[in-house]
Amino acid sequence: MIYDQCKTCRRLGQKLFLKGDRCFSAKCAISRRAYAPGPQRKRRGGAPSEYKKSLTEKQTLKKWYGLSEKQFKRYVGETLAKMGKVEDVSAELIRKLETRLDNFVFRAGFAKTRIQARQMVSHGFFSVNGKNVNIPSFIVEKDDIVAIKENKKKKGIFNEIQAQLKAREVPAWVALNKEKLQATAVGAPSLDDVKPPAEISLIFEFYSR
Ligand code: ZN
Repeated sequence: MIYDQCKTCRRLGQKLFLKGDRCFSAKCAISRRAYAPGPQRKRRGGAPSEYKKSLTEKQTLKKWYGLSEKQFKRYVGETLAKMGKVEDVSAELIRKLETRLDNFVFRAGFAKTRIQARQMVSHGFFSVNGKNVNIPSFIVEKDDIVAIKENKKKKGIFNEIQAQLKAREVPAWVALNKEKLQATAVGAPSLDDVKPPAEISLIFEFYSR
């Protein structure tokens, strides 16, 4: 990929691991230069506006999950529609985003990044409860079993995955079977599990203005 994902880290002011380990290296722009890309303008005084803050939080979470504006806005809209019906709308939004198949594949350790996870899902690497699913936005429900398809296990990429799974810690809501290369959703992701890199209440404010 030619596009430098760490430009996004710099723009949003934190390491987002969009290309995995790259953010640990000196290549991650935020450790090189602590200001946003583009021509350097004179800093205007004062704190960033409320609008700018909420925009940054929205962009950060959207990029973290690798979603388009349209997709992300839809998740926020669906969540806000549940206001008053669910205990915690922030937790509800994160639950929706985390249970996407592409994110689940990433959480299970089958891919190094969400970008890679999405490509693998689209290329038909996975089954859910034995059925082929190649839709990244497919929602993984509790007790669903996501497995790498037998005919894909021979690909070189899986030697790499098996090596990386040895050191991988998966979240409590994902049960990983490293031998079979399959993972089961055994619970629901909580805000504590996920530790999102953005202030979610500001994201709701962004779309409510
Ligand atoms: Zn980075």
